[in-house]
Amino acid sequence: LLDESGQPGVTIFEEITALANKHEAINLGQGFPDTEGPVEIRQIAVDAILSGANQYAPGSGILPLRQAIAEHQKRYYSLDVDPDTEVVVSTGATEAIAASLLAFLEPGDEVVTFEPFYDSYAAMIGLANAKHKVVQLKAPTFEPSIEDLRAAISDKTRVILINNPHNPTGAVFSTQVLSEVIALAHQHDCIIVADEVYEHLTFETKHVPIASLPGGFERTITISSAGKSFSFTGWKVGWATGPEHLITAIRTIKQFLTYSSGPAFQPAVAKALNLPEKFFIDFAASLASGAQILADGLENAGIPVIRPQGTYFLVADINNFKRNDAIEVARAMPESVGVAAIPMSVFARPENVSNYQGLLRFAFCKKPPILTEAIKKLQLLP
Ligand code: PMP
Ligand code: GLN
Repeated sequence: LLDESGQPGVTIFEEITALANKHEAINLGQGFPDTEGPVEIRQIAVDAILSGANQYAPGSGILPLRQAIAEHQKRYYSLDVDPDTEVVVSTGATEAIAASLLAFLEPGDEVVTFEPFYDSYAAMIGLANAKHKVVQLKAPTFEPSIEDLRAAISDKTRVILINNPHNPTGAVFSTQVLSEVIALAHQHDCIIVADEVYEHLTFETKHVPIASLPGGFERTITISSAGKSFSFTGWKVGWATGPEHLITAIRTIKQFLTYSSGPAFQPAVAKALNLPEKFFIDFAASLASGAQILADGLENAGIPVIRPQGTYFLVADINNFKRNDAIEVARAMPESVGVAAIPMSVFARPENVSNYQGLLRFAFCKKPPILTEAIKKLQLLP
């Protein structure tokens, strides 16, 4: 958690957003949409505040939200979860990830994640005093090799932490990879923590939760967030679902992290989970079109990209410009180009940083004219 000079560090998202704000740059760094979630859902939160939802919510979340989460799992994935014992509401997906890792890991246990990985994973694995092993995802498909996966998992592995659809690559993993993770989890007696916050943001295929595959549910904690599905990233309402004994362990930790949060947001998210399917389809289509605008624009500017299959993000390669110091480029861009992006190397273990030289992550969850404006500015990048 310390930076390169040993000082307390801030996350890359905090750092780059501060630079974007300072230089009034277009922020394609931190992943947040520039369109607010549905007004009728926001109104529910406003009304809830005015009618008294201002004291502690129950530690597991209000029952109507737990019921809505269970109904959503049934409607989209034919998964049966008991709202009383198999669902816990969290302060964003971030807290559910933290509580899972603190609940399941003993010092010295190993955790396997794919690399590049979302930044909170390494931090929380470190705080749990566990060992972080990675399986590298290689361009252009970012699909892990099954052999690499098998080699990374051993009897010391306690948790396999997967993120699908995947931030920062925009990859969606095949059912074959997910089934292999389940087989290995059974073989080595591991728990699967599945961060599926981008579950509704896939472009060509429907999301397949790992918990919905044969043998998956019994050892998987599935995590999601209203931030991504409904464009309320600041509300920090997330949840975890899974078998009772695993959810009980998470709830036990979670009560000493935040206990509970967001009493007025919870009824609003309950309603949002019941929006007609068309809402999710239209939102994914608008993101797919943002991805295409940005990918086409970058390619026309001579910057190769790897086209995403989901999420808010795509990966661009600036090695052609002999600019492989992507961290320095990303720190300079808000001022020099007027656009912010995230260097991919921050999603890697220190010993693997050189594999991500010259790669930048751009967020495309922005209005089309903003993306077009960003593309114009990015012509300055070379
Ligand atoms: N996991 C991934 C992969 C993410 O991209 C994010 C980003 N926000 C989170 C977890 C955290 O979600 P939340 O904001 O709901 O805590
Ligand atoms: N998940 C968001 C991203 O990857 C950022 C969340 C944060 O700022 N911690 O950009």
